[in-house]
Amino acid sequence: MTSPLYKRVLLKLSGEALMGEDQFGINRASIEHMVGDVVEAANLGVEMAIVIGGGNIFRGVAPGAKGMDRATADYMGMLATVINSLALADAMEQAGLTARVMSAIGIDQVVESYVRPKALQYLEEGKVVVFAAGTGNPFFTTDTAAALRGAEMGAEIVLKATKVDGVYSADPMKDTSATRYSHITFDEAIEKHLEVMDAAAFALCRDQKLPIKIFSILKHGALKRILLGEDEGTLVHI
Ligand code: UDP
Repeated sequence: MTSPLYKRVLLKLSGEALMGEDQFGINRASIEHMVGDVVEAANLGVEMAIVIGGGNIFRGVAPGAKGMDRATADYMGMLATVINSLALADAMEQAGLTARVMSAIGIDQVVESYVRPKALQYLEEGKVVVFAAGTGNPFFTTDTAAALRGAEMGAEIVLKATKVDGVYSADPMKDTSATRYSHITFDEAIEKHLEVMDAAAFALCRDQKLPIKIFSILKHGALKRILLGEDEGTLVHI
């Protein structure tokens, strides 16, 4: 069997990916589908760290938070990611993986707090670590948390799961001639005004020379194919 390209990766899942066809919350089939892909990846022997968003439940900048103090709304968003992390870890355990949730905000009765050496130890032991509560700070996003934890964990790549299978020359929904870039440099992404990740996350990955792969979580098996080096999604590199 071909061996995987990476030893350790950081997978960023958006909260919205958990909704599936629903308008809100966590859709069981979607989470199971996602976990199926994570199991395939973990079975390759790749160490998996995961950051999950909270957009299916609450976003600090959502219309529903209008008029609220922004920092308060962002803390609500971070707590939403804790809910998703618990659901994800539970589904992974049910699928036979050993998962640990570590929160950037102390809520010790629910999940353990993030401690870097402990997270590294879990990864070395082959456990899947889910980083909850983003960076622990308002005014950031879980994309930034993914870049941050990816760098801290020494991941070789950030795999950002989206609804589209990469970065395109134009919006593929509107322009049928749009083509997918199989790879692109950080500088080209800036030049072309391509919003690969939010600006803070992008800057951190670029500074740390941490490549990003944008791929579709809706394409079953894409995660495994990426780990095996097949042409999937778009690689953003130095
Ligand atoms: N959030 C935050 N700081 C962080 C990460 C997240 O304040 O470090 C809040 C913010 O309000 C954000 C919400 O949590 O809108 C949910 O995260 P995000 O929007 O990144 O989730 P996704 O779009 O990936 O589902």
